[in-house]
Amino acid sequence: MQTRLKIESKGRRKPDDKQFNDLKDGVQRVKLSEGCPYLCPYCYEDDKLKVFPIPELNGGIIKILDMNFLWQPKIIERINQLADMRIRGQFFEATSGFDFRFMTQEIAYALKKAKFINIRIAWDWGLKDQYKIKDVLNMFFKAGYKPNSIGVFMIVNWKIPLDVCDLKLDLLKVWNVGVCDCCFDGGYSIAIPEYWTQTQR
Ligand code: SF4
Repeated sequence: MQTRLKIESKGRRKPDDKQFNDLKDGVQRVKLSEGCPYLCPYCYEDDKLKVFPIPELNGGIIKILDMNFLWQPKIIERINQLADMRIRGQFFEATSGFDFRFMTQEIAYALKKAKFINIRIAWDWGLKDQYKIKDVLNMFFKAGYKPNSIGVFMIVNWKIPLDVCDLKLDLLKVWNVGVCDCCFDGGYSIAIPEYWTQTQR
């Protein structure tokens, strides 16, 4: 088990009352849920779960912005509902990635059937989670995803030291999947060099 740390200073973002749903240039960005149970110290997401109805799907690509999409109850039913509502040529993408702690083979099959693309998995913590990440990759491969359609989020510039991040990168290279980086503090332009030195950044 990784040691989970308490929230440090910034506080949590209050869940929105109104559902975010925006369509621009054929891309629909929507929230189907809010909240995450983990309260990671580098994240603003609240631990209260809020589930929104699935709105009309009008985009060619539907980007689901939920911070922990898989935390919703009856997640397979929700994914199947999306599959039933989609029309030919529509695809889904979960932009914040899938939480390996909630992943199952059944979910991987459901995501594939519903036409989720550009799969992302979050691996924010240390090397101890490598076997679980590999298990989840295998679930996606078994469901029919190719390695080049999968990326793994790694948080950088935080308390996971640079040498551990380098080892994680080596593993991702061996597994032949992509890397999606994610910066502690909400953005590179205001990155706080609190845990990594300036040159390590
Ligand atoms: S970083 Fe991910 S797992 Fe951690 S609290 Fe935020 S949404 Fe949840």
